[in-house]
Amino acid sequence: MNNIFRLDKDTVNILAKEHGTPLLVLSLEQIEKNYLFLREHLPKVKLYYAMKSNPQDQIVQRLADLGACFDVASDGEMQQLRDLGISPDRLVYANPVKTAGGFAKAQETGVNTFTFDSESEIEKMAKAVPGGRVLLRIRVDNPDALVDLNQKFGAPATDAMRLLLKARDMGLDVAGLCFHVGSQSRSAAPYLRAIATCRSLFDEAQAVGLNLRLLDIGGGFPIQTTGEPIDIAAMCHSISEALTENFPNTEIWAEPGRSLCGTAVNLITRVIGSQIRNGQQWYFLDEGVYGSFSGVIFDHWDYELETFKNGMNITATFAGPSCDSIDVLYRERPTPPLAIDDLLLVPACGAYTSASATVFNGFAKAKFVIWEEIAPEIRNQLRNAC
Ligand SMILES: *Cc1c(COP(=O)(O)O)cnc(C)c1O
Repeated sequence: MNNIFRLDKDTVNILAKEHGTPLLVLSLEQIEKNYLFLREHLPKVKLYYAMKSNPQDQIVQRLADLGACFDVASDGEMQQLRDLGISPDRLVYANPVKTAGGFAKAQETGVNTFTFDSESEIEKMAKAVPGGRVLLRIRVDNPDALVDLNQKFGAPATDAMRLLLKARDMGLDVAGLCFHVGSQSRSAAPYLRAIATCRSLFDEAQAVGLNLRLLDIGGGFPIQTTGEPIDIAAMCHSISEALTENFPNTEIWAEPGRSLCGTAVNLITRVIGSQIRNGQQWYFLDEGVYGSFSGVIFDHWDYELETFKNGMNITATFAGPSCDSIDVLYRERPTPPLAIDDLLLVPACGAYTSASATVFNGFAKAKFVIWEEIAPEIRNQLRNAC
């Protein structure tokens, strides 16, 4: 199993003293473990890290060193990878609706693989990146996903042939299909359904003389949360089997985001306010939904809040530091009673957190430290403290 990166109480205390709060602690070793885990359990699949989940340079660099490729959605992400010296042939511009700036950056940096899901995008691509290699994104319904991306993207399978042929007729290099089952998918089932759909479409395409050679199974791979256990290895195993059976000779890609970075970051935050309002206990933290807890809103995520306290649980509302009423993390959440200056640890805080944090209301983004860089010093201090 790939365990998750999780700081202990003494370490949290030292880190908060040395670096202040809110503080994000990133483990690059955990990033590496997560990558190697997926490589092991999806052995025939080339992994494209979805930059949007956490674009921190050090994460990208570590994954690049391990041989990963990258899924980008904008000119900014392409520029960042170029600045890091990552070759453009390791990138897929996987945004079905691309901007003029995005096309220009792709041309400038040499990115030449694109996804699309509509007729108008074919026309845009034929003009902006003539002869480009393209993948058609197929819609796969998955109401069970935590974030159902198929409400926004993907062509219905019934439109696939028409779109593929049009792309070919307009001079694009029609390479294959892609899909995204939705984020934090808790089972293999939607992948298996999508793989079966894609198999039929590959066959249909073959029958009209289109030789598809690439299948991109997207992201959506889950991380273990405090909820019900998910057997991620077994899930990957079923997906792998379906791929071997249905696509023995096809190049396969995946675009994991959350599963590579989600478990690699811990947030340390502090109680800065406490009051009873309408009979309900409120705790104010120094990090909120405009900061690293942005995933509460954008990612519908239920973060674990570790308080390091025992005591009888009460229920409390947890709020962020800004002067906006939407800046509430959780209401009626069971928690041991807390006091001002108590520290909270939020594990598995790496995906869709800092990536969408803002500086709203003048609160700076949480400071970032790399665990492996500071660990020797912290261990030293822990030893001296005993
Ligand atoms: C967001 C996204 C991903 C990553 O999804 P995860 O659920 O984080 O794995 C992959 N591909 C595309 C096209 C995306 O938009």
